[in-house]
Amino acid sequence: MSNAIDLQGRTAIVTGGAQGIGRAVVERFVASGAKVVIFDRDAPLAAAAADAIGRVMVTPVTVDVTSLGDVERAVAEALAVLGRIDILVNNAGIAGPNHTVWDYPEAAWRQVMAINLDGPFFCCRTVAPHMIAQNYGRIVNVASIAGKEGNPNASAYSASKAGVIALTKSLGKELAGYDIAVNCVTPAAAKTAIFDQMSQQHIDYMLSKIPRGRFVQVDEVAATIAFAASQDCSFTTGAVFDLSGGRATY
Ligand code: NAD
Repeated sequence: MSNAIDLQGRTAIVTGGAQGIGRAVVERFVASGAKVVIFDRDAPLAAAAADAIGRVMVTPVTVDVTSLGDVERAVAEALAVLGRIDILVNNAGIAGPNHTVWDYPEAAWRQVMAINLDGPFFCCRTVAPHMIAQNYGRIVNVASIAGKEGNPNASAYSASKAGVIALTKSLGKELAGYDIAVNCVTPAAAKTAIFDQMSQQHIDYMLSKIPRGRFVQVDEVAATIAFAASQDCSFTTGAVFDLSGGRATY
């Protein structure tokens, strides 16, 4: 792994940082010099990640991103640990079940929206005033290729991730005057615990759609996020960094 991206002295919140893509982002950020607070609802897993990477640089805070009140409490805790928040990575997310739209359970739809779309909104809403006050910030939202292309039998997930892309574009414009870059990434399928929520048929479908012919690796996603989170990403905002392995050409 190259650590050419400089995050020395920077501070970050990474939601869903206990495992999978989020954990790879935490490792990458720490390797590049940043201090990180992990926001995750899975306390034991977040504690284990912080222990493994090192408590000097990583602090776990238990939070459910679907609750604005909980996010506000957690951001206050993060500020107490970090002093300031330079970087916010909205990564926590779920796939939800695979169903046709006529069978899609209402409760599952609402849960996917709450975690995947309300969560990033609540975190941006709470962190943005601090970034505005310091006239600097980098927000990176983890969307998905599903938000661009739409995957069958994954209507809630696809719609939630399209929402994340639109949220990114909107905030990119809204916060542009404060040196706050807001960008998102759209990964293809990555082999993580999220696969446990999906049918094998759905996983096969996703793989069959990737021209690269393989899953994206979590380190590859983390590398792109690290750039978008760095000072070097000084002009691009409201943009979508494609990680679809060639499936989408825009
Ligand atoms: P994962 O299941 O490995 O990790 C998700 C993390 O989010 C977990 O640690 C979980 O505890 C946490 N989380 C879930 N709900 C939460 C909540 N309400 N509050 C706080 N934390 C919560 O999943 P992953 O594959 O690493 O996915 C990370 C992100 O990447 C998600 O937004 C996902 O939609 C997106 N993504 C994943 C893939 C893929 O194929 N893995 C592809 C494209 C996009």
